[in-house]
Amino acid sequence: MKANVTYWLDETAARFPDKTAYADENKAVTFRELRERARNIACELTARGLFKKPVAIFLEKGVDVLVSFMGAAYSCNFYSPIDVDMPGSRVNKILEVLEPSVVITTKDLREVFSAYEYRGEFLLLEDVLSAGGGQTAEAGKDGLRGHGDDETAREAALEAARRRGVDTDLLYVLFTSGSTGVPKGVTINHRAVIDYIDWVTETFEISEKDSFGNQAPFYFDNSILDIYSTLKTGATTYIIPKNLFAQPVPLLEYLKEKKINTIFWVPSALIVVAKLKAFRNVDLSDTLRRVLFCGEVMPNKQLNVWRKFLPNVQYANLYGPTEITDACTYYIVDREFSDEEPLPIGFPMPNTDILVLNEKDEPVTGEESGELCVRGTSLSMGYYKNPEKTREAFVQNPLNQAVPELIYRTGDIVKYNERGEILYLSRKDFQIKHMGHRIELGEIETAVSSLEEVSLCCCLYDEKRQKIVLFIEEELEKAYINEKISRLVPEYMLPNKLIRVEKMPINANGKIDRVKLKEYI
Ligand code: AMP
Repeated sequence: MKANVTYWLDETAARFPDKTAYADENKAVTFRELRERARNIACELTARGLFKKPVAIFLEKGVDVLVSFMGAAYSCNFYSPIDVDMPGSRVNKILEVLEPSVVITTKDLREVFSAYEYRGEFLLLEDVLSAGGGQTAEAGKDGLRGHGDDETAREAALEAARRRGVDTDLLYVLFTSGSTGVPKGVTINHRAVIDYIDWVTETFEISEKDSFGNQAPFYFDNSILDIYSTLKTGATTYIIPKNLFAQPVPLLEYLKEKKINTIFWVPSALIVVAKLKAFRNVDLSDTLRRVLFCGEVMPNKQLNVWRKFLPNVQYANLYGPTEITDACTYYIVDREFSDEEPLPIGFPMPNTDILVLNEKDEPVTGEESGELCVRGTSLSMGYYKNPEKTREAFVQNPLNQAVPELIYRTGDIVKYNERGEILYLSRKDFQIKHMGHRIELGEIETAVSSLEEVSLCCCLYDEKRQKIVLFIEEELEKAYINEKISRLVPEYMLPNKLIRVEKMPINANGKIDRVKLKEYI
């Protein structure tokens, strides 16, 4: 029985010490190196007395981020990646909620961090990991630096910490968009990831022979599948350079060159490839085996292009929010679909129960639609230090009056089709998915409202054209507003279109009339 994901790393490093675990544009680590470096970081965290404490990771996306994740996990602390490109004010909001005990970063990035409201401790990678990237030569028998009694004591302290941990201890906190402008920290424990990855690796028969092509940023939960399937099985994950996602032909050439046979991307990334028909230039039929996707609706129109060019690949639609450890339902594509048909999100994963509840909190019947709610060990432990939001989304199972049992209310409206498969229909709130990013329109509205010149504003999403539309009453330019709010929200949240209205329409409840505004799109 495993209570900590790093036991996988111990086993895999023993089985495949010299095999590449993770590789980015500039460097690669073998499983042995990964373990050694992670344990060096972990020893340092334990030596500082940290146990079950938040560790923020502030690094450019790459191998070192994953080494740091494992360092936090080994020492029974939990990590939270902070995107280095995020606007400073949002980083500050995250730091305020997380209150990290330590920030893992580099000497250079620490300088950037001085602009933030953080006065706590740092752990600089250059200090913990020896120069040149590998400390194999100087490592002790268990991969820890140096020799002698000191190291034995550090090692013993680390093992004691890991043994003390339980599987419901947190592994990570990922921050998602929050409607009030304060990001919500979704907490996930070791057990949830262990269950999920057991399912992934068994269902898709992942082994050390496989190679993943990672697209998902590490602050986005899709990355869990690549990171931990690799850790468990001895596969390899290649972190694909971000700029390739705007150039489909070089992107597919990269997959071919690295012999990547499994990808788990957001549909937006797959759609770009399909639209530009890049398959005509690069033949991946002997390379790709599995194309998995999750995070937003995958239109059959574009999936059919993939299927036409790569008919022998296994395709699977995974569905789920960050709050239930990446995915809770799945559909392995097993039949033809016309371009207009919806692709099912399928069936619950094992050890996961899906309740589709109508407005009276009763299970739906027949063709009735309802909110998808989830039960099981995959559930988040709640939003970090946010009991109010936690209580709204994680509620007592209305079908169980006997003992406390939480379900997570996703806010997604679904129904069953005649085959018993779940179909995703829409959201019941103002959360959207734009180019794969989860966004609360309220977060953009909060940012725009903070501008002195703006009195009332409203954001809607134009699904058809995939545009964030901002409505205001004032005569302001879109470029001006975006320039101002880019200090508050990430680039992917900037409105794509601005519509000026003479007077904001108000409905009978005195709220902005979104239905009326929709007519202007
Ligand atoms: P995130 O927390 O970023 O993973 O976003 C979760 C939300 O993305 C869900 O609540 C859904 O609204 C949407 N979503 C995730 N996967 C799918 C899918 N396969 N089909 C449709 N929508 C999805």
